[in-house]
Amino acid sequence: MDYKYLAELLFPCVTLTPEDMEKRYPPRNLPEGAVVSRHAPSPTGYVHLGNIVQSLTSERVCHQSGGVMYLRIEDTDAKREVKGAVGILIDSLAHYKIRFDEGATADGDVGAYGPYRQRQRRDIYHVYAKYLVQNGMAYPCFCTAEELAAIRKRQKAEKANLGYWGPWAVWRDRPIEDIEKALKEGKPWVLRFRSTGSIKNKYKFYDLIKGEIDITENEIDIVLLKSDGIPTYHFAHVVDDHLMRTTHVIRGDEWLASLPVHIQLFKALGFKLPKYAHIGPIMIMDGNSKRKISKRKDPQFGLIYYRKCGYPVESVYEYVLTILNSNFEDWRRANPDTPAEEFRFSLKKMNPAGALFDAAKLNDISKNVVSTMSADKIYADLLEWAKEFEPGFARALEADPDYAKAIISIGRGGKKPRKDYGTWSELREYMKFFYDDTFDVVDEYPEEADKSDIKATLAKFLETYNPADEQGVWFDKIKAIAASLGYAPEMKEYKQNPGTFRGSIADISMFLRVAVTGKLNSPDMYTVMQILGEARVRQRIESMLSRLG
Ligand code: GLU
Repeated sequence: MDYKYLAELLFPCVTLTPEDMEKRYPPRNLPEGAVVSRHAPSPTGYVHLGNIVQSLTSERVCHQSGGVMYLRIEDTDAKREVKGAVGILIDSLAHYKIRFDEGATADGDVGAYGPYRQRQRRDIYHVYAKYLVQNGMAYPCFCTAEELAAIRKRQKAEKANLGYWGPWAVWRDRPIEDIEKALKEGKPWVLRFRSTGSIKNKYKFYDLIKGEIDITENEIDIVLLKSDGIPTYHFAHVVDDHLMRTTHVIRGDEWLASLPVHIQLFKALGFKLPKYAHIGPIMIMDGNSKRKISKRKDPQFGLIYYRKCGYPVESVYEYVLTILNSNFEDWRRANPDTPAEEFRFSLKKMNPAGALFDAAKLNDISKNVVSTMSADKIYADLLEWAKEFEPGFARALEADPDYAKAIISIGRGGKKPRKDYGTWSELREYMKFFYDDTFDVVDEYPEEADKSDIKATLAKFLETYNPADEQGVWFDKIKAIAASLGYAPEMKEYKQNPGTFRGSIADISMFLRVAVTGKLNSPDMYTVMQILGEARVRQRIESMLSRLG
Protein backbone atom coordinates (compact mmCIF):
# COMPACT_ATOMS: atom_id res chain seq x y z
CA MET A 1 0.00 0.00 0.00
CA ASP A 2 1.23 3.46 -0.87
CA TYR A 3 0.53 5.19 2.44
CA LYS A 4 1.69 8.58 1.17
CA TYR A 5 -0.87 8.38 -1.59
CA LEU A 6 -3.59 7.36 0.88
CA ALA A 7 -2.66 10.26 3.17
CA GLU A 8 -3.05 12.74 0.29
CA LEU A 9 -6.35 11.20 -0.62
CA LEU A 10 -7.70 11.59 2.92
CA PHE A 11 -6.16 14.91 3.90
CA PRO A 12 -5.49 16.89 0.71
CA CYS A 13 -5.68 20.24 2.50
CA VAL A 14 -3.19 19.45 5.23
CA THR A 15 0.13 20.99 4.30
CA LEU A 16 1.73 21.44 7.70
CA THR A 17 3.84 18.75 9.32
CA PRO A 18 4.62 17.62 12.85
CA GLU A 19 7.91 19.56 12.56
CA ASP A 20 5.94 22.75 11.96
CA MET A 21 3.91 22.03 15.08
CA GLU A 22 7.07 21.46 17.11
CA LYS A 23 8.30 24.88 16.00
CA ARG A 24 5.00 26.55 16.77
CA TYR A 25 4.82 25.02 20.25
CA PRO A 26 8.41 24.68 21.44
CA PRO A 27 9.30 23.06 24.78
CA ARG A 28 8.61 25.43 27.64
CA ASN A 29 11.49 27.18 29.21
CA LEU A 30 10.97 26.20 32.82
CA PRO A 31 13.30 25.25 35.64
CA GLU A 32 13.99 21.58 36.35
CA GLY A 33 11.12 19.97 38.24
CA ALA A 34 8.48 22.55 37.25
CA VAL A 35 5.20 20.77 36.64
CA VAL A 36 2.93 21.71 33.75
CA SER A 37 -0.61 20.42 34.12
CA ARG A 38 -4.16 21.29 33.37
CA HIS A 39 -7.83 21.07 34.11
CA ALA A 40 -9.53 19.76 31.00
CA PRO A 41 -13.28 19.64 31.54
CA SER A 42 -16.05 19.01 29.06
CA PRO A 43 -18.50 21.92 29.14
CA THR A 44 -21.71 20.14 30.11
CA GLY A 45 -23.11 22.98 32.22
CA TYR A 46 -22.89 20.87 35.36
CA VAL A 47 -19.91 21.83 37.51
CA HIS A 48 -19.29 19.42 40.36
CA LEU A 49 -17.04 18.55 43.24
CA GLY A 50 -14.99 16.35 40.91
CA ASN A 51 -14.00 19.49 38.97
CA ILE A 52 -12.72 21.09 42.15
CA VAL A 53 -10.94 17.95 43.31
CA GLN A 54 -9.14 17.54 39.98
CA SER A 55 -8.36 21.18 39.33
CA LEU A 56 -7.22 21.88 42.87
CA THR A 57 -4.92 18.86 42.80
CA SER A 58 -3.36 19.93 39.50
CA GLU A 59 -3.19 23.56 40.50
CA ARG A 60 -1.43 22.84 43.78
CA VAL A 61 1.09 20.50 42.18
CA CYS A 62 1.87 23.00 39.39
CA HIS A 63 2.17 26.11 41.47
CA GLN A 64 4.11 24.49 44.29
CA SER A 65 6.70 23.46 41.73
CA GLY A 66 6.92 26.84 40.03
CA GLY A 67 5.21 25.37 36.97
CA VAL A 68 2.25 26.25 34.77
CA MET A 69 -1.42 25.44 35.20
CA TYR A 70 -3.78 25.88 32.29
CA LEU A 71 -7.45 25.41 31.43
CA ARG A 72 -8.34 23.46 28.32
CA ILE A 73 -11.93 23.12 27.22
CA GLU A 74 -12.68 19.64 25.88
CA ASP A 75 -15.63 20.44 23.69
CA THR A 76 -15.29 17.72 21.07
CA ASP A 77 -18.58 16.14 22.04
CA ALA A 78 -21.02 18.67 20.59
CA LYS A 79 -23.99 16.56 21.73
CA ARG A 80 -23.14 17.07 25.40
CA GLU A 81 -22.45 20.76 25.12
CA VAL A 82 -24.81 23.22 26.76
CA LYS A 83 -25.00 26.89 25.80
CA GLY A 84 -23.17 29.16 28.26
CA ALA A 85 -21.49 26.17 29.89
CA VAL A 86 -17.93 27.43 29.34
CA GLY A 87 -18.80 30.69 31.08
CA ILE A 88 -20.35 28.84 34.03
CA LEU A 89 -17.28 26.66 34.28
CA ILE A 90 -14.82 29.53 34.19
CA ASP A 91 -16.87 31.43 36.78
CA SER A 92 -17.11 28.49 39.17
CA LEU A 93 -13.41 27.72 39.02
CA ALA A 94 -12.54 31.37 39.64
CA HIS A 95 -15.05 31.44 42.52
CA TYR A 96 -13.20 28.55 44.18
CA LYS A 97 -9.86 30.28 43.67
CA ILE A 98 -8.42 27.86 41.15
CA ARG A 99 -5.69 29.91 39.52
CA PHE A 100 -4.81 29.36 35.88
CA ASP A 101 -1.75 30.83 34.22
CA GLU A 102 -3.06 30.27 30.73
CA GLY A 103 -5.91 28.76 28.78
CA ALA A 104 -9.54 29.57 28.15
CA THR A 105 -10.83 32.67 29.95
CA ALA A 106 -14.06 34.65 29.83
CA ASP A 107 -12.33 37.04 27.41
CA GLY A 108 -10.92 34.46 25.04
CA ASP A 109 -7.72 32.44 25.23
CA VAL A 110 -4.57 33.54 27.02
CA GLY A 111 -1.22 31.87 26.40
CA ALA A 112 1.17 30.79 23.66
CA TYR A 113 0.10 27.14 23.50
CA GLY A 114 -3.47 27.64 22.31
CA PRO A 115 -6.10 27.51 21.06
CA TYR A 116 -7.23 25.99 24.34
CA ARG A 117 -10.63 24.86 23.08
CA GLN A 118 -10.44 21.57 21.25
CA ARG A 119 -12.92 22.36 18.54
CA GLN A 120 -10.64 25.16 17.40
CA ARG A 121 -7.71 22.71 17.11
CA ARG A 122 -9.12 20.60 14.31
CA ASP A 123 -6.34 21.51 11.86
CA ILE A 124 -3.70 20.57 14.41
CA TYR A 125 -5.15 17.09 14.93
CA HIS A 126 -5.32 16.63 11.18
CA VAL A 127 -1.60 17.25 10.82
CA TYR A 128 -0.95 14.26 13.07
CA ALA A 129 -3.73 12.20 11.54
CA LYS A 130 -2.11 12.65 8.13
CA TYR A 131 1.31 11.82 9.57
CA LEU A 132 0.00 8.55 11.03
CA VAL A 133 -1.59 7.58 7.71
CA GLN A 134 1.61 8.45 5.83
CA ASN A 135 3.45 6.06 8.09
CA GLY A 136 0.97 3.21 7.91
CA MET A 137 -0.20 3.73 11.49
CA ALA A 138 -3.77 4.79 10.75
CA TYR A 139 -6.37 4.00 8.11
CA PRO A 140 -9.93 4.94 7.17
CA CYS A 141 -12.78 2.65 8.15
CA PHE A 142 -16.13 2.86 6.36
CA CYS A 143 -18.08 0.45 8.56
CA THR A 144 -21.64 1.44 9.30
CA ALA A 145 -23.16 1.08 12.75
CA GLU A 146 -25.01 -2.02 11.49
CA GLU A 147 -21.82 -3.60 10.21
CA LEU A 148 -20.09 -2.97 13.53
CA ALA A 149 -23.04 -4.49 15.38
CA ALA A 150 -22.88 -7.55 13.12
CA ILE A 151 -19.16 -7.97 13.86
CA ARG A 152 -19.91 -7.78 17.55
CA LYS A 153 -22.61 -10.38 17.27
CA ARG A 154 -20.30 -12.81 15.52
CA GLN A 155 -17.58 -12.15 18.08
CA LYS A 156 -20.00 -13.00 20.87
CA ALA A 157 -21.08 -16.19 19.12
CA GLU A 158 -17.46 -17.23 18.63
CA LYS A 159 -16.48 -16.08 22.12
CA ALA A 160 -13.79 -13.87 20.59
CA ASN A 161 -12.55 -10.68 22.26
CA LEU A 162 -14.94 -7.87 21.46
CA GLY A 163 -13.95 -4.79 19.49
CA TYR A 164 -12.48 -3.76 16.18
CA TRP A 165 -9.14 -5.55 16.19
CA GLY A 166 -6.83 -7.89 14.23
CA PRO A 167 -8.82 -10.30 12.05
CA TRP A 168 -12.08 -8.43 12.76
CA ALA A 169 -10.74 -5.11 11.57
CA VAL A 170 -12.25 -5.37 8.11
CA TRP A 171 -10.84 -2.13 6.68
CA ARG A 172 -7.38 -2.54 8.17
CA ASP A 173 -5.78 -4.03 5.08
CA ARG A 174 -8.24 -3.22 2.37
CA PRO A 175 -6.80 -2.52 -1.07
CA ILE A 176 -6.59 1.13 -2.06
CA GLU A 177 -9.20 0.58 -4.78
CA ASP A 178 -11.86 -0.22 -2.17
CA ILE A 179 -10.99 2.90 -0.23
CA GLU A 180 -11.07 5.09 -3.32
CA LYS A 181 -14.42 3.65 -4.33
CA ALA A 182 -15.95 4.23 -0.89
CA LEU A 183 -14.62 7.79 -0.86
CA LYS A 184 -16.04 8.43 -4.32
CA GLU A 185 -19.41 7.18 -3.15
CA GLY A 186 -19.21 9.71 -0.36
CA LYS A 187 -19.43 7.11 2.38
CA PRO A 188 -18.68 8.49 5.83
CA TRP A 189 -15.49 7.22 7.40
CA VAL A 190 -13.60 7.35 10.66
CA LEU A 191 -9.86 7.24 11.01
CA ARG A 192 -8.62 4.26 13.01
CA PHE A 193 -5.31 3.57 14.65
CA ARG A 194 -3.53 0.45 13.40
CA SER A 195 -2.71 -1.21 16.69
CA THR A 196 0.34 -3.43 16.85
CA GLY A 197 -0.28 -4.33 20.48
CA SER A 198 -1.30 -7.69 21.85
CA ILE A 199 -3.23 -8.46 24.98
CA LYS A 200 -0.69 -11.19 25.65
CA ASN A 201 1.80 -8.47 26.50
CA LYS A 202 1.67 -7.06 29.99
CA TYR A 203 3.95 -4.60 31.73
CA LYS A 204 4.29 -2.52 34.88
CA PHE A 205 3.53 1.17 34.98
CA TYR A 206 4.00 3.69 37.74
CA ASP A 207 1.10 5.99 38.47
CA LEU A 208 1.82 8.88 40.84
CA ILE A 209 -1.30 8.19 42.93
CA LYS A 210 -2.09 4.52 42.32
CA GLY A 211 1.53 3.38 42.53
CA GLU A 212 2.67 0.42 40.44
CA ILE A 213 -0.08 -0.90 38.20
CA ASP A 214 -0.32 -3.67 35.61
CA ILE A 215 -0.97 -2.69 32.06
CA THR A 216 -2.13 -4.96 29.28
CA GLU A 217 -1.30 -3.78 25.78
CA ASN A 218 -4.12 -2.51 23.64
CA GLU A 219 -4.98 -4.48 20.51
CA ILE A 220 -8.06 -2.54 19.38
CA ASP A 221 -7.87 -0.29 16.33
CA ILE A 222 -9.44 2.61 18.18
CA VAL A 223 -11.03 5.58 16.45
CA LEU A 224 -8.82 8.66 16.21
CA LEU A 225 -11.06 10.93 14.18
CA LYS A 226 -14.83 10.64 14.08
CA SER A 227 -16.67 10.92 10.79
CA ASP A 228 -17.00 14.70 11.21
CA GLY A 229 -13.22 14.99 11.47
CA ILE A 230 -13.34 15.75 15.21
CA PRO A 231 -10.92 13.72 17.31
CA THR A 232 -11.84 11.26 20.04
CA TYR A 233 -10.71 12.00 23.58
CA HIS A 234 -7.77 9.61 23.17
CA PHE A 235 -6.29 11.31 20.12
CA ALA A 236 -6.96 14.84 21.37
CA HIS A 237 -5.45 14.04 24.76
CA VAL A 238 -2.21 12.81 23.26
CA VAL A 239 -1.80 15.61 20.71
CA ASP A 240 -2.83 18.39 23.10
CA ASP A 241 -0.88 17.27 26.12
CA HIS A 242 2.20 16.89 23.97
CA LEU A 243 1.92 20.23 22.20
CA MET A 244 0.91 22.11 25.35
CA ARG A 245 3.94 20.53 26.97
CA THR A 246 2.06 18.94 29.84
CA THR A 247 4.46 17.13 32.16
CA HIS A 248 1.80 15.61 34.46
CA VAL A 249 -1.58 14.31 33.36
CA ILE A 250 -3.67 14.43 36.53
CA ARG A 251 -7.19 13.14 35.88
CA GLY A 252 -10.02 10.97 37.15
CA ASP A 253 -9.34 7.24 37.28
CA GLU A 254 -12.22 6.50 34.93
CA TRP A 255 -9.51 7.06 32.31
CA LEU A 256 -7.24 4.33 33.67
CA ALA A 257 -8.81 1.74 31.37
CA SER A 258 -7.75 3.83 28.36
CA LEU A 259 -4.21 4.37 29.56
CA PRO A 260 -2.76 1.51 27.43
CA VAL A 261 -4.18 3.24 24.33
CA HIS A 262 -2.69 6.56 25.37
CA ILE A 263 0.75 5.12 26.05
CA GLN A 264 0.61 3.42 22.65
CA LEU A 265 -0.35 6.66 20.87
CA PHE A 266 2.40 8.68 22.56
CA LYS A 267 4.89 6.10 21.31
CA ALA A 268 3.45 5.95 17.81
CA LEU A 269 3.70 9.72 17.48
CA GLY A 270 7.21 9.80 18.89
CA PHE A 271 6.17 11.97 21.84
CA LYS A 272 7.70 11.83 25.29
CA LEU A 273 5.26 10.19 27.70
CA PRO A 274 4.07 12.53 30.48
CA LYS A 275 3.72 11.32 34.04
CA TYR A 276 0.24 10.16 35.00
CA ALA A 277 -1.70 10.55 38.24
CA HIS A 278 -5.16 9.00 38.36
CA ILE A 279 -7.44 10.33 41.08
CA GLY A 280 -9.90 7.91 42.69
CA PRO A 281 -13.59 8.85 42.68
CA ILE A 282 -15.24 10.78 45.49
CA MET A 283 -17.01 8.26 47.70
CA ILE A 284 -20.01 8.76 49.94
CA MET A 285 -21.55 6.59 52.69
CA ASP A 286 -24.90 5.11 51.75
CA GLY A 287 -26.16 3.31 54.83
CA ASN A 288 -23.22 1.19 55.89
CA SER A 289 -21.53 0.95 52.56
CA LYS A 290 -19.49 3.28 50.44
CA ARG A 291 -20.39 4.16 46.88
CA LYS A 292 -19.29 6.68 44.26
CA ILE A 293 -20.87 10.08 44.67
CA SER A 294 -23.41 10.61 41.91
CA LYS A 295 -24.91 13.49 40.00
CA ARG A 296 -28.34 11.89 40.14
CA LYS A 297 -28.48 10.86 43.79
CA ASP A 298 -26.35 13.40 45.63
CA PRO A 299 -27.13 17.11 45.51
CA GLN A 300 -23.81 17.67 47.30
CA PHE A 301 -21.99 16.66 44.13
CA GLY A 302 -23.00 19.80 42.24
CA LEU A 303 -21.19 23.00 43.17
CA ILE A 304 -24.39 24.98 43.04
CA TYR A 305 -25.37 23.21 46.28
CA TYR A 306 -22.49 24.88 48.15
CA ARG A 307 -23.37 28.22 46.69
CA LYS A 308 -27.03 27.92 47.61
CA CYS A 309 -26.27 26.82 51.18
CA GLY A 310 -23.76 29.64 51.35
CA TYR A 311 -20.62 27.71 52.22
CA PRO A 312 -17.77 30.17 52.15
CA VAL A 313 -15.30 29.46 49.36
CA GLU A 314 -12.59 29.16 52.01
CA SER A 315 -14.48 26.34 53.74
CA VAL A 316 -14.95 24.30 50.59
CA TYR A 317 -11.31 24.84 49.69
CA GLU A 318 -10.16 23.79 53.15
CA TYR A 319 -12.52 20.82 53.15
CA VAL A 320 -11.35 19.54 49.78
CA LEU A 321 -7.75 19.71 51.00
CA THR A 322 -8.79 17.78 54.11
CA ILE A 323 -10.26 14.89 52.15
CA LEU A 324 -7.51 14.90 49.53
CA ASN A 325 -4.39 14.89 51.67
CA SER A 326 -4.33 12.65 54.75
CA ASN A 327 -1.92 14.94 56.61
CA PHE A 328 -3.76 18.20 56.01
CA GLU A 329 -5.69 18.08 59.30
CA ASP A 330 -2.53 17.62 61.38
CA TRP A 331 -0.94 20.48 59.49
CA ARG A 332 -3.98 22.66 60.11
CA ARG A 333 -3.90 21.93 63.86
CA ALA A 334 -0.23 22.88 63.98
CA ASN A 335 -0.78 25.97 61.79
CA PRO A 336 -4.22 27.30 62.64
CA ASP A 337 -3.68 30.76 61.16
CA THR A 338 -1.67 29.96 58.05
CA PRO A 339 -3.46 30.34 54.68
CA ALA A 340 -4.38 26.90 53.30
CA GLU A 341 -2.37 27.67 50.15
CA GLU A 342 0.81 27.31 52.15
CA PHE A 343 0.14 23.65 52.88
CA ARG A 344 2.51 21.39 50.93
CA PHE A 345 0.17 19.28 48.81
CA SER A 346 1.35 15.83 47.86
CA LEU A 347 0.01 13.29 45.35
CA LYS A 348 1.49 10.58 47.55
CA LYS A 349 -0.85 11.52 50.39
CA MET A 350 -3.93 10.92 48.27
CA ASN A 351 -6.01 7.82 48.86
CA PRO A 352 -5.68 5.73 45.68
CA ALA A 353 -9.20 4.37 46.26
CA GLY A 354 -10.69 7.88 46.39
CA ALA A 355 -11.62 10.40 49.07
CA LEU A 356 -14.64 9.99 51.30
CA PHE A 357 -17.14 12.85 51.29
CA ASP A 358 -18.50 13.57 54.77
CA ALA A 359 -21.11 16.31 55.15
CA ALA A 360 -20.75 16.56 58.95
CA LYS A 361 -17.04 17.11 58.59
CA LEU A 362 -17.59 19.83 56.02
CA ASN A 363 -19.92 21.61 58.45
CA ASP A 364 -17.42 21.39 61.29
CA ILE A 365 -14.65 22.71 59.12
CA SER A 366 -16.84 25.49 57.88
CA LYS A 367 -17.82 26.54 61.41
CA ASN A 368 -14.14 26.73 62.26
CA VAL A 369 -13.32 28.69 59.15
CA VAL A 370 -16.15 31.16 59.75
CA SER A 371 -15.17 31.56 63.41
CA THR A 372 -11.82 32.98 62.33
CA MET A 373 -13.26 35.51 59.85
CA SER A 374 -13.71 39.19 60.64
CA ALA A 375 -17.22 40.61 60.95
CA ASP A 376 -16.56 42.87 57.94
CA LYS A 377 -15.64 39.95 55.70
CA ILE A 378 -18.62 37.92 56.86
CA TYR A 379 -20.92 40.86 56.26
CA ALA A 380 -19.59 41.28 52.72
CA ASP A 381 -19.83 37.58 51.83
CA LEU A 382 -23.21 37.20 53.48
CA LEU A 383 -24.56 40.17 51.56
CA GLU A 384 -23.29 38.78 48.26
CA TRP A 385 -24.95 35.44 49.02
CA ALA A 386 -28.20 37.08 50.16
CA LYS A 387 -28.42 39.21 47.01
CA GLU A 388 -28.53 36.00 45.00
CA PHE A 389 -30.65 33.77 47.25
CA GLU A 390 -32.51 35.95 49.81
CA PRO A 391 -33.06 39.40 48.31
CA GLY A 392 -35.34 40.57 51.14
CA PHE A 393 -32.69 39.76 53.68
CA ALA A 394 -30.07 41.49 51.51
CA ARG A 395 -32.13 44.68 51.67
CA ALA A 396 -32.32 44.45 55.47
CA LEU A 397 -28.55 43.96 55.64
CA GLU A 398 -27.91 46.96 53.43
CA ALA A 399 -30.42 49.13 55.27
CA ASP A 400 -28.33 48.99 58.45
CA PRO A 401 -24.85 47.52 58.00
CA ASP A 402 -23.78 48.49 61.54
CA TYR A 403 -26.68 46.62 63.07
CA ALA A 404 -25.84 43.51 61.01
CA LYS A 405 -22.16 43.73 61.85
CA ALA A 406 -22.95 44.09 65.57
CA ILE A 407 -24.91 40.82 65.37
CA ILE A 408 -22.15 39.10 63.44
CA SER A 409 -19.58 40.36 65.97
CA ILE A 410 -21.18 38.44 68.85
CA GLY A 411 -18.59 36.06 70.27
CA ARG A 412 -16.07 36.91 67.53
CA GLY A 413 -12.40 37.58 68.19
CA GLY A 414 -10.67 36.34 71.30
CA LYS A 415 -9.19 32.93 71.96
CA LYS A 416 -12.39 30.90 71.85
CA PRO A 417 -14.68 32.38 69.21
CA ARG A 418 -18.25 31.06 69.03
CA LYS A 419 -19.01 28.53 66.30
CA ASP A 420 -22.72 29.00 65.78
CA TYR A 421 -22.87 28.80 62.01
CA GLY A 422 -20.86 27.42 59.11
CA THR A 423 -22.91 28.66 56.17
CA TRP A 424 -24.61 31.89 55.19
CA SER A 425 -28.00 30.17 55.23
CA GLU A 426 -27.33 29.12 58.84
CA LEU A 427 -26.25 32.63 59.69
CA ARG A 428 -29.39 33.96 58.10
CA GLU A 429 -31.43 31.64 60.40
CA TYR A 430 -29.34 32.74 63.36
CA MET A 431 -29.95 36.39 62.59
CA LYS A 432 -33.68 36.07 62.02
CA PHE A 433 -34.75 36.99 65.55
CA PHE A 434 -32.86 40.26 65.38
CA TYR A 435 -35.14 41.53 62.63
CA ASP A 436 -38.75 42.30 63.47
CA ASP A 437 -40.18 40.98 60.23
CA THR A 438 -38.52 37.60 60.72
CA PHE A 439 -38.74 37.44 64.51
CA ASP A 440 -40.99 34.67 65.75
CA VAL A 441 -41.43 32.79 69.02
CA VAL A 442 -40.12 29.48 67.75
CA ASP A 443 -39.65 27.80 71.15
CA GLU A 444 -42.47 27.62 73.65
CA TYR A 445 -41.86 27.83 77.38
CA PRO A 446 -41.38 24.39 78.89
CA GLU A 447 -44.60 22.81 80.25
CA GLU A 448 -43.36 22.85 83.83
CA ALA A 449 -42.58 26.58 83.83
CA ASP A 450 -45.01 28.48 86.04
CA LYS A 451 -46.94 30.96 83.93
CA SER A 452 -47.43 33.49 86.71
CA ASP A 453 -43.71 33.36 87.54
CA ILE A 454 -42.93 34.05 83.89
CA LYS A 455 -45.30 36.98 83.81
CA ALA A 456 -43.94 38.34 87.08
CA THR A 457 -40.37 38.06 85.78
CA LEU A 458 -41.19 39.89 82.58
CA ALA A 459 -43.14 42.63 84.35
CA LYS A 460 -40.46 43.19 86.98
CA PHE A 461 -37.77 43.28 84.34
CA LEU A 462 -39.57 46.05 82.50
CA GLU A 463 -39.81 48.07 85.73
CA THR A 464 -36.07 48.20 86.35
CA TYR A 465 -34.64 47.73 82.83
CA ASN A 466 -32.22 50.43 81.83
CA PRO A 467 -30.20 49.85 78.61
CA ALA A 468 -27.44 52.10 79.96
CA ASP A 469 -26.65 49.57 82.71
CA GLU A 470 -23.29 47.84 82.70
CA GLN A 471 -23.50 44.07 82.36
CA GLY A 472 -22.88 43.58 86.13
CA VAL A 473 -25.65 45.96 87.13
CA TRP A 474 -28.00 44.45 84.56
CA PHE A 475 -27.37 40.98 85.90
CA ASP A 476 -27.74 42.02 89.54
CA LYS A 477 -31.20 43.32 88.68
CA ILE A 478 -32.14 39.93 87.21
CA LYS A 479 -30.78 38.20 90.28
CA ALA A 480 -32.91 40.47 92.44
CA ILE A 481 -35.98 39.45 90.43
CA ALA A 482 -35.04 35.81 90.98
CA ALA A 483 -34.71 36.28 94.73
CA SER A 484 -37.97 38.16 94.98
CA LEU A 485 -39.82 35.29 93.30
CA GLY A 486 -38.22 32.54 95.37
CA TYR A 487 -35.72 31.46 92.71
CA ALA A 488 -32.05 30.92 93.65
CA PRO A 489 -30.01 33.90 92.37
CA GLU A 490 -26.85 31.74 92.29
CA MET A 491 -26.60 28.31 90.68
CA LYS A 492 -24.33 27.08 93.47
CA GLU A 493 -26.93 27.82 96.09
CA TYR A 494 -29.58 26.12 94.04
CA LYS A 495 -27.51 22.99 93.58
CA GLN A 496 -26.85 22.74 97.30
CA ASN A 497 -30.52 23.09 98.30
CA PRO A 498 -32.75 22.63 95.31
CA GLY A 499 -35.79 21.87 97.44
CA THR A 500 -35.84 25.30 99.06
CA PHE A 501 -36.28 27.21 95.76
CA ARG A 502 -38.94 27.41 93.07
CA GLY A 503 -36.14 27.28 90.54
CA SER A 504 -32.93 29.07 89.74
CA ILE A 505 -31.51 32.10 87.99
CA ALA A 506 -31.23 29.89 84.89
CA ASP A 507 -35.04 29.68 84.76
CA ILE A 508 -35.44 33.41 85.20
CA SER A 509 -32.98 34.05 82.37
CA MET A 510 -34.83 31.58 80.20
CA PHE A 511 -38.14 33.39 80.85
CA LEU A 512 -36.56 36.53 79.48
CA ARG A 513 -34.74 34.79 76.69
CA VAL A 514 -37.83 33.23 75.12
CA ALA A 515 -39.63 36.57 75.23
CA VAL A 516 -36.77 38.54 73.69
CA THR A 517 -35.30 36.05 71.20
CA GLY A 518 -38.17 33.60 70.74
CA LYS A 519 -35.76 30.76 71.50
CA LEU A 520 -34.55 28.64 74.39
CA ASN A 521 -30.96 29.04 73.26
CA SER A 522 -29.33 32.24 72.19
CA PRO A 523 -26.05 34.07 72.47
CA ASP A 524 -25.35 36.09 75.62
CA MET A 525 -28.57 37.90 76.59
CA TYR A 526 -26.96 41.12 77.71
CA THR A 527 -25.20 41.51 74.36
CA VAL A 528 -28.34 40.56 72.48
CA MET A 529 -30.35 43.21 74.32
CA GLN A 530 -27.69 45.81 73.71
CA ILE A 531 -27.87 45.16 70.00
CA LEU A 532 -31.67 44.96 69.81
CA GLY A 533 -31.98 48.27 71.67
CA GLU A 534 -34.44 49.37 74.30
CA ALA A 535 -37.50 49.82 72.12
CA ARG A 536 -37.36 46.33 70.64
CA VAL A 537 -36.63 44.69 73.98
CA ARG A 538 -39.57 46.38 75.67
CA GLN A 539 -41.89 45.76 72.78
CA ARG A 540 -41.09 42.02 72.66
CA ILE A 541 -41.49 41.57 76.39
CA GLU A 542 -44.77 43.45 76.35
CA SER A 543 -46.04 41.40 73.47
CA MET A 544 -45.11 38.20 75.32
CA LEU A 545 -46.96 39.48 78.38
CA SER A 546 -50.08 40.03 76.37
CA ARG A 547 -49.68 36.62 74.72
CA LEU A 548 -49.54 35.00 78.13
CA GLY A 549 -52.76 36.82 79.03
N1 GLU B 1 -12.40 15.91 29.33
C1 GLU B 1 -11.97 14.87 30.23
C2 GLU B 1 -12.95 14.77 31.37
O1 GLU B 1 -13.70 15.70 31.59
C3 GLU B 1 -10.58 15.22 30.74
C4 GLU B 1 -9.78 14.14 31.30
C5 GLU B 1 -8.34 14.63 31.38
O2 GLU B 1 -8.06 15.41 32.30
O3 GLU B 1 -7.54 14.26 30.55
O4 GLU B 1 -12.99 13.78 32.05
